[in-house]
Amino acid sequence: EAKARNSGAPKTRNENMYRREQPLTLVAGGAGFIGSHLCAELLGRGKHVLCLDNLQTARPSNLRLLEDHPNFEFIEADIVNPLPSAVTSRTARIERVYNLACAASPPQYQADPEHTMLTCVVGTDNLLRLSEAAGARFLLTSTSEVYGDPEMHPQREDYRGFVNCTGPRACYDEGKRAAEAIAFDFARMRRAEVRVARIFNTYGPHMHPDDGRVVSNLICQALSGLPVTIYGDGSQTRSFCYVSDMVDGLIRLMESDISGLEPINLGNPEERTVRELLDAILTILDRPVAIEHRPLPTDDPRRRRPDIGRAQALLGWQPRTPLVEGLNLTCAWFAEEIGVQETITIL
Ligand code: UDP
Repeated sequence: EAKARNSGAPKTRNENMYRREQPLTLVAGGAGFIGSHLCAELLGRGKHVLCLDNLQTARPSNLRLLEDHPNFEFIEADIVNPLPSAVTSRTARIERVYNLACAASPPQYQADPEHTMLTCVVGTDNLLRLSEAAGARFLLTSTSEVYGDPEMHPQREDYRGFVNCTGPRACYDEGKRAAEAIAFDFARMRRAEVRVARIFNTYGPHMHPDDGRVVSNLICQALSGLPVTIYGDGSQTRSFCYVSDMVDGLIRLMESDISGLEPINLGNPEERTVRELLDAILTILDRPVAIEHRPLPTDDPRRRRPDIGRAQALLGWQPRTPLVEGLNLTCAWFAEEIGVQETITIL
């Protein structure tokens, strides 16, 4: 089945890139939510970007914003399969490899859990081998999910986590833990220079409206006049980072000369309950909504908040966008995206 996902010749565009011998930055998962913002930022910094995506959870319109750029090339491919020749034929030119390829929302990564696990493990291994052959630096986007339902709060990188390896989140949690293990083995064996970011909840434009995550669900439901879905009593917490801050952190980490053997938390240390998030959204959208309570999903972490001391000290990084400002931008974008007439004042 994995093969069928990647059937046919890879589709490439902007083939004039072949002729210029510029160094390439490969972004796997570059058509997704964070990946598309990362590609745009790299292009803005003059990089030549090779974007690989299987379009499993990506929004095609994310790509339309990028594909006319002369330094951007899109290749439809699934990293669980051997990398296409459009990539391997240019191995020597690849200087950076970002791996953002994986469904990251619980309903989406649980829809095909075997594929999620293989994307994390086999996909990461394929990109690490490419990085080794290219002499490229490799960045893995890992996740706060490696901490599971944490007993240490806030979560520091040296906390080893409390993860259920038999639960419905295991395909992602354990997949990313294995991806980290293999990435650090490549680093230890000096097969590739490695960076590992543990990304905490991130939100912003280009999220998929049907992504199933709390920010997109609550905003889209409120905009559409539907009841908003709160799982459990809404007292569980998350810490929400605006996407442009996240992209800045990822690039800083990639370009930093820190040792390849420590993961770095990237996220916003401001912790909110799901109810507080809803209140902030409703203040912006200014409308009454009905609340539909649903059971808390299995293994849903009670609390989550990053300790970003390491990112602050080593990268000089911390999020800059206040929640209300980021939510304003996100609400305005979703209103346009799902076609709701809405006047939202951008702060
Ligand atoms: N959640 C919710 N309503 C929704 C979607 C999610 O109350 O419509 C809750 C979910 O149970 C979790 C939190 O919001 O406690 C964040 O969920 P999300 O899926 O966004 O991210 P993750 O659980 O991976 O952090």
